Amino acid sequence: MNYLVHKEAAGFFAVEVKPDIYLIGCEVGENGGSWGRSMEFGSPTGNSWLIKGQETSVLIDSALPLPGFKAFAEKVAQTPVQLVLSHAHPDHIYRLKEFDEYWIHPDDEGLLRGEYGFNAYEGIPETIHYLKEGDVLDIGNGHVIHVYHVPGHTDGSVLLLDEKTKSLFASDTIARRLLYGLGTWIPLDRFIHDLQRIKSLDFESIYTCHDRTALSKKFIDFMIDSLKGLPEVQQRIELIGMEFIHLVSGNEKEETYFDFVVPAARREESIEALKRV
Ligand SMILES: [Zn+2]
Repeated sequence: MNYLVHKEAAGFFAVEVKPDIYLIGCEVGENGGSWGRSMEFGSPTGNSWLIKGQETSVLIDSALPLPGFKAFAEKVAQTPVQLVLSHAHPDHIYRLKEFDEYWIHPDDEGLLRGEYGFNAYEGIPETIHYLKEGDVLDIGNGHVIHVYHVPGHTDGSVLLLDEKTKSLFASDTIARRLLYGLGTWIPLDRFIHDLQRIKSLDFESIYTCHDRTALSKKFIDFMIDSLKGLPEVQQRIELIGMEFIHLVSGNEKEETYFDFVVPAARREESIEALKRV
């Protein structure tokens, strides 16, 4: 594995996983937890992804808590970077204040200002650009990036698809760990329909914000099959002062692992929605 590091940016590293596609990682996570440099499946890390263009590059999420994030990403890109937020949860916007402008789906802007019980972010850049389904970012070098909107994890979660490298950047929406239903309620059958719609697109690798290893397209089927097991799940956990149903299937060290939580208050309607799939 070829890890790119920079002497002025201790703790950061980058890995070119495909031509022009870089994982931007750091070794120490929030609260000092060790994320290391391993690229294998295991416990969650925070990852940003960079698509290197000709005169500008797209940087997806600010998912590393370490200061100096923008400068390191620009060293890797060797161009200015355009920060696109897949969504506005706190672990995706750590260093947003280092940027002059950012791109976001309008339905997630409220999260930055304290919607749904999250803390308002201090230092929101003044210049905001909205992204919506159907938008296209053409950054040169053949990278034409399509925007898809799939609500469920948050109201304004977006996925990006780079045609040239057949890479889908799915953040926390198609991922091995999914926190569902904290914003506007999206019935699970609609969410699954959206997953199937995304699956029909032309891509080979899925990059997520909390695993460094790419997922394959068939992971989407595993995810949907796992969701269908929800009626049998009895396990409950408490998070952020709320009770959730907790579904876990598979082994965290393998691709086929899915950890899903949904508010316990949504259990019955979730089960009804799954019957409609
Ligand atoms: Zn999230």
